[in-house]
Amino acid sequence: MSDNFPTIAKPSVSNMPIPPNLSDYEKTRKDFDWFKDGFSKLDWLPDGGLNNAYESVDRHVKNGKGNYNALIWIGKNGEEETYTYSEFKEESDKFGQVMKNLGMKRGDRVFIFMDRIPELYFAAMGILKAGGVIAPLFSAFGPDPVRDRMEDAGASFLITTPELKAKINSILPKIQTLQKVIVINKLNRSEIEPDNLTLSYDDLMKSIDPNSFVLEPTTQYDFSIMHYTSGSTGKPKGVLHRHQAVIQQWLTGKWALDLKEQDIYFCTADPGWVTGTSYGMMAPWTNCVTQIIYEGGFSATSWYDIIQKYGVTVWYTAPTAIRLLMRAGESVVTKYDLTSLRFIGSVGEPLNPEAVVWGNRNYKMPIHDNWWQTETGAIMCANYQVTDIRPGSMGKPFPGITMGILDEEYNEKKSGESGILAVRPGWPSQMFAYWQQDEMYNSRFKKGWYITGDQASVDKDGYFWFQGRADDVINTAGHLVGPFEVESALIEHPAVAEAGVIGKPDPIAMEVVKAFVTLNTDHQPSDQLRRELIRFAREKLSAGVAPREIDFIDIMPKTRSGKIMRRLLKARELGLPEGDTSTLEDD
Ligand code: AMP
Repeated sequence: MSDNFPTIAKPSVSNMPIPPNLSDYEKTRKDFDWFKDGFSKLDWLPDGGLNNAYESVDRHVKNGKGNYNALIWIGKNGEEETYTYSEFKEESDKFGQVMKNLGMKRGDRVFIFMDRIPELYFAAMGILKAGGVIAPLFSAFGPDPVRDRMEDAGASFLITTPELKAKINSILPKIQTLQKVIVINKLNRSEIEPDNLTLSYDDLMKSIDPNSFVLEPTTQYDFSIMHYTSGSTGKPKGVLHRHQAVIQQWLTGKWALDLKEQDIYFCTADPGWVTGTSYGMMAPWTNCVTQIIYEGGFSATSWYDIIQKYGVTVWYTAPTAIRLLMRAGESVVTKYDLTSLRFIGSVGEPLNPEAVVWGNRNYKMPIHDNWWQTETGAIMCANYQVTDIRPGSMGKPFPGITMGILDEEYNEKKSGESGILAVRPGWPSQMFAYWQQDEMYNSRFKKGWYITGDQASVDKDGYFWFQGRADDVINTAGHLVGPFEVESALIEHPAVAEAGVIGKPDPIAMEVVKAFVTLNTDHQPSDQLRRELIRFAREKLSAGVAPREIDFIDIMPKTRSGKIMRRLLKARELGLPEGDTSTLEDD
């Protein structure tokens, strides 16, 4: 805790205009039981099965809430479409039937590569209802990351749009397992180029009778979602979740984001990132809210406009966006009526204490930081509507979650000391596997703990404080980038001999990707080559993942076993002591 940022005390529950769903954190935590408070509270399927999409959509129709609005879509050109839960059920049932007709089997991996349009959500829910596994990707990705992930997962189908398909056409025939590509031409914005892999979403949907669809009786143990996440070594790993994750997604939506039926909820995350599925699909819809889906990217004025126009009550965003909103300034905030807001949450990177206090002043409520990761599937540690906030802290563990700070031998440390952030396994939304990487998966569990890869501390009152990553993974604007993936792309360029990639601190994005390269002998450093390498990496990867800066160096620092010493590159970049270099190759 810092003296500059004193605790923000919350009013007592009786003084809150709308009582929070979680009204007594300590008591709830003490009495908590996953069965009593979680598993027993959802509907389940008649035969004891569990389906994430059924709980998110169909359940509300069955319970007489079919006429509630499920989603309001705001297109990038200002288009607007609204769908009720009944319409959402119908569209997703139809798409489920489309997938069954195409021969999709239970457990098949279906990739979704598109921007936020309603059909993305119809498709995702339809696939889940038909027993498939959804694997959403960022639409900004270039062909290489798409190919790597689809090949690794043995993708059966791809759902995309004409513009995005054109970007990756060259790699599609190389994916041996790919059966069909379904292309959604939203509002006829583009043309669908025919080829023997491609089918039109509209053509497939138009002949389907929604009543013909029979939901696949998935169990809580069936796979539901796959997200790729970066580690410091190797290519990104496919994190697999099961339908049972819905229990925690629903309960954290209710208690950590304080979602209530018919709330107007705005989550700014893309479904290519786990926040965009767990809290851009499951948590809001299982809590029967109306979700705003905005196709555009960050814009302070568009976002405030949306909050004002639609009366957003709960807003879930990320620190980089908040820093950009701070930069846009207080004078912009005052132009809008944001009084509909009841709760603001943030995730993905450390939220500066200044930002919490700035939010408190400008939005008349603090921004609630919470912590979790792709592997945890749902919020694990949070600042709640009812708990006092210590700016800079990610709050306290969600009821039912035990977190600890460990030493290098994986023994628990005392409060106040920093160390490895770990969680006791067994929470419902825990990842089930890294796709076909058992050794890597097993390495995440030590002495009865799940090792998160982060460093943190806990104070004597149980507030957790994030300190940094324990590995070389770069967090740029909330997105994890594995240095290896960027290095691999760079060395495909004929000029590059070796590449080492680090995260360089940045006031807005927290870190930006910076590369150091050595050149093959027949190439000379130049500004032109630097620009060419950046362009090359952007095309292969995406603008967010490609290096923003490149330095040419003569010798790549490596350990005697040949590993690039990224930490040394970083220390040199930051002008810090280089530490122990005794394992360096060229010392
Ligand atoms: P991802 O799996 O891409 O969602 O990234 C998870 C990682 O993002 C965590 O392991 C942290 O390193 C970082 N992260 C997520 N939330 C927070 C937070 N509230 N504060 C600090 N870092 C965070």
